[in-house]
Amino acid sequence: MTSRAAFIGYVPYLIGAIGVAILVFAAALFGILTRPDGLLAVLWPANALLLAAFVRVPTMNSPIGWLGAIAGFICADLITGSDINKAAWLTLANMVGVAVGLVLIRRWDAQDRKLRRPEGILYLCLVGLAAAFGSGLVGIVIAIVLFKSDPGMTFLFWTSTEFANYVIILPFALTVTRWPTIQKSCLGLMETVKGDLRQLRGSLPVVSLGVSLVMVGFVGGPGAIVFPLPALLWCALNYRINLVALLMMLTSLWLMVELELDFLVNLPEGDDPYYGVMSIRIGLAMLVLGPLTVASIDRARTALVERLDHAANHDFLTGILTRGAFMPLGQEMVDRIAEEKGRLTIMVMDLDHFKRINDDHGHASGDRVLVEVSRVIQRSLRAGDLFARLGGEEFAILVPNIAPADAQGLAQRIRKAVEETSIETRNEIRLHSSVSIGMICRELDAPVALDSLVNEADKAMYEAKRAGRNRVVQL
Ligand code: GH3
Ligand code: MG
Ligand code: MG
Repeated sequence: MTSRAAFIGYVPYLIGAIGVAILVFAAALFGILTRPDGLLAVLWPANALLLAAFVRVPTMNSPIGWLGAIAGFICADLITGSDINKAAWLTLANMVGVAVGLVLIRRWDAQDRKLRRPEGILYLCLVGLAAAFGSGLVGIVIAIVLFKSDPGMTFLFWTSTEFANYVIILPFALTVTRWPTIQKSCLGLMETVKGDLRQLRGSLPVVSLGVSLVMVGFVGGPGAIVFPLPALLWCALNYRINLVALLMMLTSLWLMVELELDFLVNLPEGDDPYYGVMSIRIGLAMLVLGPLTVASIDRARTALVERLDHAANHDFLTGILTRGAFMPLGQEMVDRIAEEKGRLTIMVMDLDHFKRINDDHGHASGDRVLVEVSRVIQRSLRAGDLFARLGGEEFAILVPNIAPADAQGLAQRIRKAVEETSIETRNEIRLHSSVSIGMICRELDAPVALDSLVNEADKAMYEAKRAGRNRVVQL
């Protein structure tokens, strides 16, 4: 490889490293500005954001990416007045935590990282705890050589603060989607806020969250930390997991600032603030875990119901609608068209001499023909059409509002496409099939049972069989 090509190969990593440096610098600066005198920062998003960036953007997690992160941390500390010695120790604590988190998070299933299953929350806890533990251990050394503070207390305080920050920020950082998707979901939320009363219901969970946060400010006291819990649970059951993670993060950060300031202001002169602040931070981490677990259980359950629903309504072989699902859906379409006084085309089709294929080449080959034929037919249809396997080698199609001439054309296209379809058997024999199609086109202006329409199309199909098969008959 030429040196020029090698350099071009490096460019993405260079860009990644610059991105990491900027991200860490900005997040650390933000954290430092929230750092009360003598305490650890109230909000320290840098470590969780860095960990998520390393996991999600492979070009950031490179040796120069790590150098970029170190540079970001040190610069933020230096320009806010720390000496290089303190900056280096604090950076070491941050980087050790992120490194431990990264080792563990790699073992975490990619699906779970998106918190789509409740197991993901367990991993989130483990990763957060281990990473926080790593930083906390460095914190012991820092307590001895730098702060001259109690190493045990520093360790507990450091670990709990880091744990809270990881648990609060990682879900957001791991699930946040690209900007256009965020924009779309924000616009969606705004629409629901602006929309009619029925749609307004969609924004009630987030509104109630806002109300509960206002209550925290007004009522206060030791119970205030759980005021937003019911609203968070409501959000968890109603919004997508990335929106839930965002709301959860904003709520906890808000609470963290509000509760800690309240606590520090009311702290009797000379009392040690560490214990109380630590308790608030752990409490917030715990508060987040409940609704997150509910959100991911709900998500896993919804995915399961969707899978079962699909399995119940779709034919296991061809993947198209079953008769059982087709009849009620089709009846809905009939009713709608009758109300609008529109047109409906119904086709019933049956493969010709299909028994022969089974008899001569085996049932498995017959199955493959059925799969291929339904795929070919599906390709001729549009999104609003209904296509079902009525049973065996018999199919039905409902096409709304199509002119009779176009319906004829569609039926002929389907007939021809099936005729031209073939599959190859294991003995390298090409199997062809054909289809007989019965079709009726009706203008509907009064309620009618789909059953009777299908029966009429069925009669047309039998006419097609009698007339010699592989043809379309319209009655
Ligand atoms: P015709 O042109 O008159 O329709 O003749 P045919 O042989 O297609 O008609 P018949 O109804 O006698 O046979 C249909 C065959 O379809 C019988 C059955 O074994 C086969 N069949 C039904 N369901 C399946 C299936 O799921 N897989 C396979 N491989 N064959 C099926
Ligand atoms: Mg048949
Ligand atoms: Mg048949």
